[in-house]
Amino acid sequence: MAALAETLEGLTLEGELYEKLGGNKVRCFACGHCCPIPDGALGVCKVRFNRAGKLLVPFGYVGGVQCDPVEKKPFFHARPGALAFSFGMLGCDLHCSYCQNWVTSQALRDPSAVSPPLRSTPQQLVQMALEQGGEIMVSTYNEPLITSEWAVAVFKEAKAAGLMTGYVSNGNGTPQVLDYIRPWVDLYKVDLKSFDDRHYRQLGGRLQPILDTIRALHEMGFWLEIVTLLVPGFNDSPEEIKRLTEFLASVSPDIPWHVTAFHKDYKMTDPDNTSPGDLIRSAEIGLKAGLRFVYAGNLPGMVGDLENTLCANCREVLVRRYGYHILEYNVARDGSCPSCHQAIPGRWAEAYRPQIIDRPFVPRLHRRREIFWSGGT
Ligand code: SF4
Repeated sequence: MAALAETLEGLTLEGELYEKLGGNKVRCFACGHCCPIPDGALGVCKVRFNRAGKLLVPFGYVGGVQCDPVEKKPFFHARPGALAFSFGMLGCDLHCSYCQNWVTSQALRDPSAVSPPLRSTPQQLVQMALEQGGEIMVSTYNEPLITSEWAVAVFKEAKAAGLMTGYVSNGNGTPQVLDYIRPWVDLYKVDLKSFDDRHYRQLGGRLQPILDTIRALHEMGFWLEIVTLLVPGFNDSPEEIKRLTEFLASVSPDIPWHVTAFHKDYKMTDPDNTSPGDLIRSAEIGLKAGLRFVYAGNLPGMVGDLENTLCANCREVLVRRYGYHILEYNVARDGSCPSCHQAIPGRWAEAYRPQIIDRPFVPRLHRRREIFWSGGT
């Protein structure tokens, strides 16, 4: 890890999301921790650090890239069937024991998480996305908020090339970081892990900044979808799910909520895997709370209509899915229901393009080597 930290130190530039305090101290605004950082110290995320009164932040590399169906992110109301070119850096501001991206998110905390950084430029990433048929660029795999300067540099190129952009995030934001990314980010997924502050503290965060971020994202006009990974015995009590979904419905009943199945991962191997019945029960609570688009994920074919998008007015099937696979697409060109003409909230394509693929894949290796290693490291 010492070698990794040393390599990463060279892949930095001066950040934009911070203020100088007295005595060479700085305060970072990239996430809800708002760390005050003395000269020579790291922030909680371990990837942003103070050198001689300047905040240095990650830049110019990726921890991994992958082409994913947009349904995997998951976004269900943003260009269904599109390919999302996904990239991540290293590090996270939380340390969830069930993290499914722990190889990249915990690279600076856990010696068994090995993910070497690969030098890259925004232009190279966008070129690669276009070559693969990507329509959306997504910052994911680590927490994108803490590497927002890099994401914005990539997204400026992506937007110039006509691509949509998105964050897959834990939602531990600040007003400053949301203002900073607003011109460059179209889609935003928040992983709302619990509605209990004690649970968030176990994961290294607090609930309130995440709720504030969800409200702000909706008010600022990002396209927002929320995911809750249902972990038996951790966050699945009916009472907690009721409070969580009532909060979301109070922000807007049109926010899609995905309740997804946990499988044993990383350091959390005690709870049972989530069953289809657990997902369906939680989804019913969400619908009762007033949410109009509720999805059950990670158990294809086992949750009935909860993989499909239905018109909230007439119940017409608008998008029929099996896992990430689109079986049927009926949204009208103007984003409305073809049957009752009700507008369907989301970011719909004017013309549906059939899926290139319904499974994640790593872009062709020879291209990766050519692109990432041409500058040498
Ligand atoms: S990104 Fe968050 S954890 Fe990292 S230094 Fe900034 S405020 Fe602290």
